[in-house]
Amino acid sequence: MSINIDSKLPAVGTTIFTVIGELANRHQAINLGQGFPDFSAPQALLDRVDYHIQHGHNQYAPMAGVATLREAIAAKVEQSYGRPISADREVTVTPGATAALYCAITACVRPGDEVIVFDPAYDSYEPAIQLSGGCAVHLPLLPPAFAIDWQRVKDAINPRTRMIILNSPHNPTGATLSADDLATLAELVRDSDILLLSDEVYEHLIYDGETHQSLLCHAELAARAFVVYSFGKTYHVTGWKTGYCIAPAALTAELRKVHQYVCFVAVTPIQLALADFMRDCPEHYRQLPAFYQRKRDLFCERMSGSRFRFSPAKGTFFQLMDYSEINELDDMAMAEWLTREKGVAAIPVSVFYKEPPAARYVRFCFAKQDETLIKAAELLCRI
Ligand code: PMP
Ligand code: GLN
Repeated sequence: MSINIDSKLPAVGTTIFTVIGELANRHQAINLGQGFPDFSAPQALLDRVDYHIQHGHNQYAPMAGVATLREAIAAKVEQSYGRPISADREVTVTPGATAALYCAITACVRPGDEVIVFDPAYDSYEPAIQLSGGCAVHLPLLPPAFAIDWQRVKDAINPRTRMIILNSPHNPTGATLSADDLATLAELVRDSDILLLSDEVYEHLIYDGETHQSLLCHAELAARAFVVYSFGKTYHVTGWKTGYCIAPAALTAELRKVHQYVCFVAVTPIQLALADFMRDCPEHYRQLPAFYQRKRDLFCERMSGSRFRFSPAKGTFFQLMDYSEINELDDMAMAEWLTREKGVAAIPVSVFYKEPPAARYVRFCFAKQDETLIKAAELLCRI
């Protein structure tokens, strides 16, 4: 007898990051696909994890997160965005930003609710919406600027709209939201019960003197927002899967109802180590824009002799490249060809769309050692 499984996510397969990662390994390609650094986190941070493991901090943390870490986060939020928040009632540490996003969506979206997402959209949003019985309403970000068309947002809003998901700096396009964008958003949601979920995991990866426009800077928006961050991006430790969510107390209470049954807690020694490192090395995140801007510029400069076309990313550690002058392959075939035949793995951008546009882009991750970027650019310039 065979069981009829009747998948709740029939359209979901293995994520593109795994598919391309495996292909890159098989062909020993330089992996500029999945977003992760190929350099180490600060030694002092690694040492603190070891310290806490050796000193017996190996049991469950408090459900909302280790208190010293939540206090360090609250202090950082006040310094960065001028918003005093309660470490006890408005900060929740989660096993990665992905878990925070999932818990926020699950806590708030009911069957029949609509959630506005902007394509290309990070791949974890829609499955979470679907599992809650909600419906993702996809609005396009249009190249070359990948800006939000606020008129389309206005037209899409209706009584079923429960949530709008934002992501700035934006994966995969590198676009950023401006203060004007936030002001327009505030006008659109004023007097409604629409909630906001703001994915700000690349908050410190922003270039050319721009400042990150967090929803936390905007009192009216912050009052209805879950704002999500990832230690993985900021401290070069994507494999630690530790992130957090800032939200007003009433929203945090709902988020925690889900968090405590999905994961209950994030990993204890990692949280303690991050709290120590934030205390001992507060300058770390302030150096990140310059650190990554140099890598972006190195990669872009080395790619300027290639047949790829691009404008330097405004944020994130991703660089989109238009390959329409090279060939007519669709972007999945192009990413596979680059990985298999040219020795550099990239991510196709169409997978982030419900209805991919005709444009031909692939995404390269520049969170890599200089030698890796130079070698990859050399190979790509030969095409
Ligand atoms: N959102 C975006 C836009 C991302 O690029 C990532 C990257 N991994 C995440 C969320 C998830 O972060 P984490 O690894 O902390 O779950
Ligand atoms: N956020 C990373 C990226 O966009 C990958 C995370 C994952 O593999 N799910 O490349």
